[in-house]
Amino acid sequence: MKIVIVGTGISGLTAYHFLHRFLTPLIPDVEIVAYESYSTPSIGIGGTLGLAPNGLYTIKLISEEAHAKILASGFPCAKFEMRNSKGKVLGLMPAGSPERYPGTGGEVMHSRAAIYEEILEVLEGQGAKIQYGKTVTAVTPKEDGVEVSFADGEAVMADLVIGADGIKSTVRKAAFPGVEARFEGLVGVGSVVPASAIPKCDLPKEIPYDYKSTKYSPTVMTFGSNGFFGYSPINSKPGDEMRYQWWSTAESTDESRNVPIEEIERQLVERHKDWISPNGEKSIIEIVKFAIQQHKEAAETDRTKKILVLPNYYMQIMDRYNSTDGRILLMGDSAHVMPPHSGQGVSLASEDGYVYAKLLAHEIERTKAAQSKDYKDALATAGKYYTEMRKPRNDKVMAVAARAGSQKKTLTWWQERMRDFFFGMFLRFVSEGIQDPVAGYKVDEQVEQFLKNKP
Ligand SMILES: Cc1cc2nc3c(=O)[nH]c(=O)nc-3n(C[C@H](O)[C@H](O)[C@H](O)COP(=O)(O)OP(=O)(O)OC[C@H]3O[C@@H](n4cnc5c(N)ncnc54)[C@H](O)[C@@H]3O)c2cc1C
Repeated sequence: MKIVIVGTGISGLTAYHFLHRFLTPLIPDVEIVAYESYSTPSIGIGGTLGLAPNGLYTIKLISEEAHAKILASGFPCAKFEMRNSKGKVLGLMPAGSPERYPGTGGEVMHSRAAIYEEILEVLEGQGAKIQYGKTVTAVTPKEDGVEVSFADGEAVMADLVIGADGIKSTVRKAAFPGVEARFEGLVGVGSVVPASAIPKCDLPKEIPYDYKSTKYSPTVMTFGSNGFFGYSPINSKPGDEMRYQWWSTAESTDESRNVPIEEIERQLVERHKDWISPNGEKSIIEIVKFAIQQHKEAAETDRTKKILVLPNYYMQIMDRYNSTDGRILLMGDSAHVMPPHSGQGVSLASEDGYVYAKLLAHEIERTKAAQSKDYKDALATAGKYYTEMRKPRNDKVMAVAARAGSQKKTLTWWQERMRDFFFGMFLRFVSEGIQDPVAGYKVDEQVEQFLKNKP
């Protein structure tokens, strides 16, 4: 059996790991090859994101060591402090404490690169076949498999092709024509700054922050009438200088990522110049000024000081993630684009890989396909089950994220007041279990449960 994975972001790597792990005992000569258009691994690339307890749970299933390293270097973030731009604290939103989700470590703020690098290290250790600088241009179903064509003119045949090629997925375009990711009309900009860039008056009293505290959180999210501003520590290793990620999101008609720094500065200053922190000071504009200065002085030589521009995309909900014969599948952002405000992009992408690999292994065993070398039925059923299991969960998270995104758009005077009132009331009564359905998900137990009701 030959499997091709297109893309080696977090969903591609996770799928590779679990397919290798669950299929090799059944089909010792299974061949899995991942193709990536970047010419080298994307070490150190990307901004920061929230890694939810369910994502950490899945990463722990890949490797306890990788999980421990991610936990030790990221920032545990049990709560978000919600404010409005007029200096009012609206309340604390539970994000996922280690006690609520034992064994996972709870919600962690981290750099995307660190998570990717830890998983990549596991794959390199298991001798994964990854070919860089190979851009897939087409996937074409043939009678006895799928042909995968590359920009360099090469083509290979596979029994199964997994599209883990992100928002603008080529595999999706080829196998599910008409379904496209579209610009959401929101753009986020942000960078990483040292803790010294956060005005002292805006920080909680204790640094390092005690995540068990219920009084405050150093992860702060401020909502205005013309956008959103957030900041959070992203590391916690004793001895390391504490660094913060900040990000500002607002409506825009421009989805370009190459915006001149002068234009970024103009927009940020215009948006945040009057935003007030609870202490009455204009702390946010101070963070912005520091980051702009840092970018102007060092972005050319030090990528970590660069301000990144990330347009947000949304995608219509897909009917299925599998072709009818189960030979072409989508995972991660190619199947369900998760905007940053979902906080679930990496976490759901890694669950997809586990679920599919387990379902395929189950079907191969059940149909005795390894003996007959006829994988047709196993592929068709595993693909169908994969959609059946993943779609309701992914659709729900996408719907919640779409609602959260609308709060970052431009609001009228009346809409702003309504939001602050209802959000404040909600935060007053919200229980710690609010995140349980998504964050408390244990992917291995869920697959087991699902398969109990199948032949
Ligand atoms: C370099 C990078 C930086 C990121 N930084 C952030 C961030 O700061 N904040 C955030 O919220 N999210 C970020 N993301 C997105 C986040 O990682 C994903 O939303 C989430 O992990 C789901 O990942 P995915 O594997 O489905 O897709 P992705 O992470 O987008 O990975 C898709 C992979 O497929 C490759 N690929 C695409 N097309 C082809 C093709 N035709 N042929 C071969 N390979 C192809 C891409 O190069 C990429 O490596 C980043 C993604 C990348 C690739």
